[in-house]
Amino acid sequence: MVGVDVLVILDGASEPLGGARATSLERASTPALDALAREGTLSRLRMVPAGLAPGSEVAIPTLLGWIPDGTVDRGAIEAAARGIAVAPGERAWRVDAVTPDGDRAGDAATRRAARALQADACAHAVHRLAGHRLLLVGPPPLPAATRAVGLRVWPEGVVISPTLERSTVMVAAIGAAAGIGRLMGARVLTPAGATGGPASDLAAKAACAVQAITGGATRVIVHVGGPDEAAHLLDFEAKVAVIERADRDLIAPLAAAIRRASGTLRVCPDHGCDPATGQHDAHPVPCVRWPGRDLGARGAHGDDPAVTGMRPAADPAGDTQGNGDAAGAAPVSRRLTERAVADLAVTDLMPRLVAA
Ligand SMILES: [Zn+2]
Repeated sequence: MVGVDVLVILDGASEPLGGARATSLERASTPALDALAREGTLSRLRMVPAGLAPGSEVAIPTLLGWIPDGTVDRGAIEAAARGIAVAPGERAWRVDAVTPDGDRAGDAATRRAARALQADACAHAVHRLAGHRLLLVGPPPLPAATRAVGLRVWPEGVVISPTLERSTVMVAAIGAAAGIGRLMGARVLTPAGATGGPASDLAAKAACAVQAITGGATRVIVHVGGPDEAAHLLDFEAKVAVIERADRDLIAPLAAAIRRASGTLRVCPDHGCDPATGQHDAHPVPCVRWPGRDLGARGAHGDDPAVTGMRPAADPAGDTQGNGDAAGAAPVSRRLTERAVADLAVTDLMPRLVAA
């Protein structure tokens, strides 16, 4: 029996390595992830095809097996995330309401912008999404009314097509990941309390995923948006805190469920997002694959050639959280961190998946 294949995506969790500063993954205390790293296989994955801007709309489809060959259509993702119908021959455009300085418009300004756009583009439907985000749906071409001052339209792109097995379950808040999952053919579940932000109810997501596992799902994907959101808010402590909560409230119960059901658990970021700048990055990300063995029962290093040649590293976070000191903790060289995989060869997901 192969068992269930579970993937946890820690959105934007990784960070560029530079200087002496420990990354959020290094600073976070993550006993469950440490155990997965100790018993499983670490790898270093390139998730962003060359020439494309790093972001979830590119990295998550790549991780799930659909390789974008150009800009990915954000409007289609937003529509799918909210169940907004886009009829054959129509398009959806993500439109942001912005201030004269290009910042996110406030609530009243967004409402005014939506009303004005609807009045001018009367053959199209204007939907208000969260915050400053609007969605315009209707026949191409893009209405001239979107060129009004105070609006910024996301570029059209290639629409993600269904490639996932229909039995795939994705647990995600209402947002880009949910839209990607739905376009790719997954059944998307959003438990109450799942917000996609740093305060999202991750225990509720875990319960939802465990229910899918015990119900016989063969592939379960859980998206955690909090690390990316915290990094965009330039909030170092919130980013570490949400990674620690993901470890305790989501990864630990998922590992326990997989131990009972048999299967594998993979955990990785989709792309980097630096809390010092709030910017995404396209660097390869660390990934751990745990083959469902008893946590703590053994210290196997897996058989992936990617992990051979790994050498112990100095403890870069030794003066912060002291992860390497606690009894039973994984050595720093075998944690899910950017530094722990820095010497591994990069696994390029693109050619491997295209060839598969
Ligand atoms: Zn982001």
